[in-house]
Amino acid sequence: MKEVRLYNNLTRNKEVFFPITPGEVKFYSCGPTTYDYIHIGNGMALIVGDLIHRCFKALGYKVTFVRNFTDVDDKIIDKAKLRKIDPLAHSKEFLQECEQDIASLGLLPVTYAPKVSETIPEIIAMIEELVRKNFAYEVKGEVLFHVPAYADYGKLSKKDLESLQHGIRVEVEDHKKHPSDFVLWKPYKDGEPWWDSPWGRGRPGWHIECSAMAKKFLGETIDIHHGGVDLIFPHHENEIAQSEAANGKPFSHYWCHNEHLNFGKEKMSKSLGNVITVRGFVENYGGEILRQIITSAHYRSKIEWGDAAIDRAIRDVERIHKFLINYEHAKNNNIDKSAQSSQKKEIENMLASMQEEMANDLNVSGALGIFFTMIRNLNRDYLAENLNYQNKKKLTVDLVSAIDQTIAFFKLATGLIHDRPEQLIEKMNIARGKLSSSDKKLSEEEIVALLAERKVARGERNFKRSDEIRDQLKTAGITIKDNPDGTTSWSY
Ligand SMILES: [Zn+2]
Repeated sequence: MKEVRLYNNLTRNKEVFFPITPGEVKFYSCGPTTYDYIHIGNGMALIVGDLIHRCFKALGYKVTFVRNFTDVDDKIIDKAKLRKIDPLAHSKEFLQECEQDIASLGLLPVTYAPKVSETIPEIIAMIEELVRKNFAYEVKGEVLFHVPAYADYGKLSKKDLESLQHGIRVEVEDHKKHPSDFVLWKPYKDGEPWWDSPWGRGRPGWHIECSAMAKKFLGETIDIHHGGVDLIFPHHENEIAQSEAANGKPFSHYWCHNEHLNFGKEKMSKSLGNVITVRGFVENYGGEILRQIITSAHYRSKIEWGDAAIDRAIRDVERIHKFLINYEHAKNNNIDKSAQSSQKKEIENMLASMQEEMANDLNVSGALGIFFTMIRNLNRDYLAENLNYQNKKKLTVDLVSAIDQTIAFFKLATGLIHDRPEQLIEKMNIARGKLSSSDKKLSEEEIVALLAERKVARGERNFKRSDEIRDQLKTAGITIKDNPDGTTSWSY
C-alpha cells in the first residue's frame, strides 16, 4: 500500500491521503442522469472516476466504489412527456444505453450502482432526520433545506451566504424562508413518478439522493467524493449541508473534481443538437481513443478537444499495442532461459517511478512518459517488428518477470492496455481513415441547412431526397436521430 497525495478541493491543497480505515477507500462519484445518450463530458467524469478507482486499487488499497444513476429527474420527465411514455420507463431505457457506453469505455465494475428509484426509503429517512433536527421544513407537501440553519454552508465552493443572497436574481418564492433554501422533496404533479412519504405523494429533489446513497453504502463519513467541476455548486455544497446536518459528522474528507473538455472552435452547443455523444464518438473512433485522450491529460487541467487530440491518441494507442504484440513474440522467440539480465533493475526502477507518479495526484501523463521510455528501450534492445532478432539481445526470465509486472501495473492503474492488440491496431487504421476524411467536414450551418431541406422533403413525402440527405450526412460522419417531437438531433 503506497502513500497517495491527492488534491483536496475542500482545502485547495494537495494533501497526503489518510483513509478512515487503513488500506481502504470509501469512494463516491456522482453518476449520470439517464435522460438521453451521455455526451463526452459525462464520459470524462466517468473515466476520471474510474481512474481514481484504478489508481488506488493498483497501489494496494481496497476500494468500495459507489457511482449512482439519477433515474428520477426533471429532465427525464420532460423527455418522457415528449415521447408520451412513463418517465421511469424512459430512464430505464437510457440507463441501459448508458451501461452500454460504460462498457465501451473499459471502466472497471463499481461496487454499487444505486438508482434513485431504489433508494426512496433511505432518502425519506434522511429528510425526516433533517426536519426533526430543524434543518428542513415542509410547506404544502414540499420539503426544503433551510440553508442558514447549517453554519458551514459554502465551505467547498468558498461562497458565503451573503454573496449568494445578492447573486439571486429572481424574487424569493414566497414559500421559501431564505432564497438559498433548496428542495429535498417535491410534491406530486400529474404525470410524474411518485412515492408515498410523510409529506404526501411526491419525489425527491436532486441533491438528497447522493447524501442518502453515500450513507447507505459507505457510511456517514466517506474518504473521497468525486464529480465534474460543474457539480461543486450547488450540488456538492448541498450534499455536504444535507449529510453533515443529518449525521452530525464530516461528510467527505477529500473532494476531487475533474475539469472540462475544452472544445475551442468546435464548441459543444446543446441547443443546436450537436452534442458529441459517447455513442457517436465510439462508433466513429472507438472507446479506447476517448479513454486515451482523457487519461493522458491531468484530470485537473482542461483538455483541448479536436482532431489533433484524436490523432495523437491514435498514435499512442498504436505504439502501446504494437509493443505488446512484439513483446509477446520476443518472449516466445528471443529468450535465453538460463541467463540473468543486467537490465532488470532498470525496469524495476521504472515501475517504482510509475507508481510514484500515480500516487502524486494521479499523474498519468508522468506514468505514461515512463512507460513510453520503457517501450523505446525494449524496442531498441530486444524486440523486432520484422521478427528478425539478429542484432538484438535476448530477453531473460527475470527481465520478463519485471516487464510483465510493469505492464500489469500500468494496465490496472490506467486502463490504457486493451485485450486483442491485433484487432485494436486494425481499429486504429480505420479511425485514422475517418479522421482524415473528416477534413471534408460539413460546417454547422451546412448541416442545419441540410436538415431543414430534409424536413421539407419529408413533409412533401419526397423520400428519395430525404434519404439522399441522410446518406450525405452519414458520409460526412454525422449521425442523425429523428425525435418523436418532430425535431432532429445530430452528432459527429
Ligand atoms: Zn451527487
